[in-house]
Amino acid sequence: MKRSDIAISLKNVSKTYRVSDIRSETLRDRLAQVVMGGSSRKIEALKNINLDIYKGEFFGIIGHNGSGKSTLINIMSKAIPPDKGGTVIRNGNYIRLSLGMGFNPELTARQNIMVNASILGLSMREIKSRTPEIIAFAELENFVDTQIKFFSKGMKARLAFAVAVHAQADILFMDEFFGGVGDERFKEKADTVFKEQLLKNRTIVHVSHSLKNIQEYCERVLVLDHGMPIALEEPAKAIEVYRNEVIKKKLQTRPNPQNT
Ligand code: ADP
Ligand code: MG
Repeated sequence: MKRSDIAISLKNVSKTYRVSDIRSETLRDRLAQVVMGGSSRKIEALKNINLDIYKGEFFGIIGHNGSGKSTLINIMSKAIPPDKGGTVIRNGNYIRLSLGMGFNPELTARQNIMVNASILGLSMREIKSRTPEIIAFAELENFVDTQIKFFSKGMKARLAFAVAVHAQADILFMDEFFGGVGDERFKEKADTVFKEQLLKNRTIVHVSHSLKNIQEYCERVLVLDHGMPIALEEPAKAIEVYRNEVIKKKLQTRPNPQNT
């Protein structure tokens, strides 16, 4: 593989969060914490990830709750830095899709689309001419000028998906982006568009609980277990590892308190 064929490259990527055991919002709480001997505690969310994702690849990440999937996607999209010593290289522009998706609740659907124009790699003129299309796709014609805070979860999900379809990004980061998109009928429509438009000529990093989705779309899948990469395989094998190593082990051991 040539270097130019690589979309994302991670070397020695680890992530340690520091959290205090008690939420010390007030001075009194902080003092209580000192008196009780509480201190900040480390959570090693990711441990030494080395990984290359190729251009045009559909890459999946699976793992139990709290295994580090979102942390990894946040590091890949440079939303947060890795620990010292880790490097992240990314070739190409990107968009990070999640169901909350940076919408401003005080703005209307139309205004939110405008605000997202730069993220989508579109000029103001382009976004203006595309807005009706986006709204129509989201089936929100009657709510164009309604503030997002009055939208249901499904409506927000449809808008996010419609915006995503129009994104001119080379890399799509999708964190549990699928599954929540509206009712069955909309899901079907979203699925078709996903296959016919979103998949073409892009690198996709896909975190999902839906193993069916992972199996159907991904070329390679990374399995995380408590922040550790335990497999990097084609989907069927990765899912097998996930079922055998992660789910079984979880059934045998008590749940990790940090994730509950
Ligand atoms: P996943 O997406 O696989 O459920 P996350 O990446 O969200 O996992 O979380 C990995 C671990 O890091 C969990 O133990 C979680 O509690 C912890 N964590 C995630 N974000 C933070 C944060 N901002 N501060 C402290 N701990 C965090
Ligand atoms: Mg997550």
